[in-house]
Amino acid sequence: MFSKTILDFGRKPNVIRDLSAYAGARKAEIGPENVFDFSIGSPNVPPPPQVHEAMLELLTHADPVAIHSYTPAPGLLSLRRAIAASICRRFGAHVDETGIYVTAGASGAIAMALKGLTNPGDEVVIFTPHYMEYLIYTEAYGAVPVIVKTDPDTFQIDVPAFEAALTEKTRVVILNSPNNPSGVIYTAQRIRALTDAMKAAEKRFGHPIYLLSDEPYRELAYDGVEVPYLMDYYDDTLVCYSYSKTLSIPGERMGYLAVCRRCAAYEDVVDVCAGAARALGHICTSNLYQRVIERCVDVVADVDYYKRNRDVLVKGLEDLGFTCVHPDGAFYLFMKSPWPDSMAFCEKAKAYELMVVPGHDFGVPEYLRVSYCVDHDTILRALPAFARLAEDIGLA
Ligand code: PLP
Repeated sequence: MFSKTILDFGRKPNVIRDLSAYAGARKAEIGPENVFDFSIGSPNVPPPPQVHEAMLELLTHADPVAIHSYTPAPGLLSLRRAIAASICRRFGAHVDETGIYVTAGASGAIAMALKGLTNPGDEVVIFTPHYMEYLIYTEAYGAVPVIVKTDPDTFQIDVPAFEAALTEKTRVVILNSPNNPSGVIYTAQRIRALTDAMKAAEKRFGHPIYLLSDEPYRELAYDGVEVPYLMDYYDDTLVCYSYSKTLSIPGERMGYLAVCRRCAAYEDVVDVCAGAARALGHICTSNLYQRVIERCVDVVADVDYYKRNRDVLVKGLEDLGFTCVHPDGAFYLFMKSPWPDSMAFCEKAKAYELMVVPGHDFGVPEYLRVSYCVDHDTILRALPAFARLAEDIGLA
């Protein structure tokens, strides 16, 4: 017999990819300039020039065998040292190369951490709105997702609700800030309250509770809003980082897991994550790209492009009467559905060639997500379509 859980994962529709495929089909039918695809979170700005310069330099001058050979499973030592040094320099964090494991994006890091840290029946706290794949990574290993709602208007952490959700089975808490899909950055004050509650729970229950900081959007923060570094707040922290958005290279599958040096049972945590990676069939990530990342460890793509998109989109939609959560980071806008069911509203939007994602799979069905990692021109041309939609549904 097949595993029922895993079979269900294979058959579960992926709303975003389905919508994106639909947008592709419509573009072929009526021309790309007439379709406004806000479905997928794939960067539209090119990688910074340093990425291709590093590749060219490696392809031209490096030993061709060495740049394509297997690397150690956790990654090249020189890269792990460079990552650790960058984190320490930028955030004063307590990390060294022994706690860095280079992964296939943040996805690889989250999957291996959850596999390593949980036993069947353990609980994993996930805040709404949430990245949909957390449920898959949690349930695949028999752990149980515990969904905690955030404040209904600000989508900031609701600390009393979080405290009420902690039980002696709580093993991992996942935080994602800047958040996909809300664009919200959790404030230092709420993070302090959350980590205080976790420290108290660790004492009360007599075992560590790990904080998993999923941060593919760390560098995408606007107007100087600070993204707190969670290791500064809580020792039992693991960071899942990605270069997908930072360097606009999502298809190259590069990221890392970083374990805080002050983590309880540090060696065990590092080893259990390495064991999980092995069990998941991870050998090592791309050798060539590890070397590229080592040369670009502090480089960031053109974040101002997204900020300009955000500013025009938020103002345009609010002027039309839509209600948005102000996004301080990432490249997503979370909008309140004018109809109670965002699924029905998103279907309606399709009639205007507007592809936006209903909030159901993010755990907030009354909202929808608009990804603004698109050409600026697409936003300018989409606003009249949003205006016609607003008029059609009688939005004030
Ligand atoms: N976590 C969040 C919140 C995301 O939005 C994404 C991708 O969009 C990922 C993790 C996975 O990113 P990757 O595996 O490309 O690093």
